[in-house]
Amino acid sequence: MTQVYNFSSGPAMLPADVMLLAQQELRDWQGLGTSVMEVSHRGKPFIAAAEEAEKDFRDLLNIPSSYKVLFCHGGGRGQFSAIPLNLLGDKTTADYVDGGYWAASAVKEAHKYLKPNVIDAKITVDGKRAIKPMSEWQLSEDAAYLHYCPNETIDGIAINETPDFGDAIVTADFSSTILSHPIDVSRYGVIYAGAQKNIGPAGLTIVIVREDLLGKAHSVCPSIIDYTVLSENDSMFNTPPTFAWYLSGLVFKWLKQQGGVDVMNRINQQKADLLYGVIDNSDFYRNDVASANRSRMNVPFQLADSKLDSLFLDESFKAGLHALKGHRVVGGMRASIYNAMPLEGVKALTDFMIDFERRHG
Ligand code: PMP
Repeated sequence: MTQVYNFSSGPAMLPADVMLLAQQELRDWQGLGTSVMEVSHRGKPFIAAAEEAEKDFRDLLNIPSSYKVLFCHGGGRGQFSAIPLNLLGDKTTADYVDGGYWAASAVKEAHKYLKPNVIDAKITVDGKRAIKPMSEWQLSEDAAYLHYCPNETIDGIAINETPDFGDAIVTADFSSTILSHPIDVSRYGVIYAGAQKNIGPAGLTIVIVREDLLGKAHSVCPSIIDYTVLSENDSMFNTPPTFAWYLSGLVFKWLKQQGGVDVMNRINQQKADLLYGVIDNSDFYRNDVASANRSRMNVPFQLADSKLDSLFLDESFKAGLHALKGHRVVGGMRASIYNAMPLEGVKALTDFMIDFERRHG
């Protein structure tokens, strides 16, 4: 079988070692003669595994003890509602930075609950797409919180600055960049991420919330996304996505074995440098994001001649390089290269790209 590298943006590839272990344990987890999918979330074995996963996740991101970690349902989009419903309090507005598709989607949902002060951060620098520096974000005085998305999965745009907005409560959608680099958690009120990119399988959403922000949920906030209810019930108010939680726990162990997020950060930089290097060294491929805002997780690129797109996709698929088709709103190609994508996978892609250009350029 050809070695397959899966560049899907999410659900995305998982580490091979993790999949092998899950396969081994699938029908007999911890000697119980049953799978982890089939046991009670309230039983000792699952609770122990769940607690260990949380501990490993906390270790990986160095999460201060003044923060709760919640394992919940609802995906990134669920948090677009959970954030206002938990944090708005008696205010009527919040600051929303628009840097791309997902940030704008959060704004759209927020309109149901408040009047967002939208900060359009999209700018052009030397003809390339970029993001206004944080120092130019005009926050409003009466905002309940600030929301932004540090990595735009579709646009391939990253905001790499660490927020420093005094007392403002910063909330951030880390769905496509969590665990790819160290984060100073103390700068945030809430960090959230859907699991299906850099954590584990779809169905799980992780929320990191500063403890003093609990207890403010709106009375109509559904209990299953109420941070206080989730926190008081150790994320087991309703049945959590147990299999996704378990598998994410295996990914956290794997990450620790790799050396943690510092090591991933270094490897992710190498992978991104390799891929952007090939794009920049050619007139055949192009990426139109300014270098300071280029995502290291999601790399969109266009072929100079879009008539070659389907041939590129066809040939790359045959070469074992899967899911390179760009998102429907931007077209072209996109390679998502999360933690689980090894450097060899990116090397295989760049070798293919160079060869494709040689044959068709
Ligand atoms: N935020 C970001 C940055 C995303 O990439 C996605 C999914 N691609 C979402 C939110 C929405 O996530 P979900 O489908 O889990 O609701």
